[in-house]
Amino acid sequence: MSNDCLFCRIAAGDIPSQEVYSDEHVYAFHDINPTAPTHILVIPRKHLNSVCDAGPDDEALMGKLLLTGQQIAQKQGVASDGFRLVINTGDQGGQTVHHIHLHILGGRQMTWPPG
Ligand code: C5P
Repeated sequence: MSNDCLFCRIAAGDIPSQEVYSDEHVYAFHDINPTAPTHILVIPRKHLNSVCDAGPDDEALMGKLLLTGQQIAQKQGVASDGFRLVINTGDQGGQTVHHIHLHILGGRQMTWPPG
């Protein structure tokens, strides 16, 4: 947990958010500025700046992040029509918050390539 990190503080409950799922390893909440009818973020409770900071010890946690995204998409009812999981990484990857987060986007047709 980093007190300087917005998402660490959200996961800790210091900053309010609309919770979707929580357990000892991950926390999920509705994105404050949704870009799709369903737009949820899943974050590890452990502070990691980006995917590039994950190491061999984080293998299970990275799998947990992905499977939590899958389960939330199913529970939110967007899995049958299709959805998108995104992890923006670094400046050119469009990452603005430097704590790993998995975007779950659903409820509309996605396009490719992304901007
Ligand atoms: O992948 P990227 O770093 O750009 O995504 C950050 C996301 O965090 C944005 O979609 C933004 O709307 C969301 N956010 C949030 N709550 C905040 C600050 C940012 O949901 N307090």
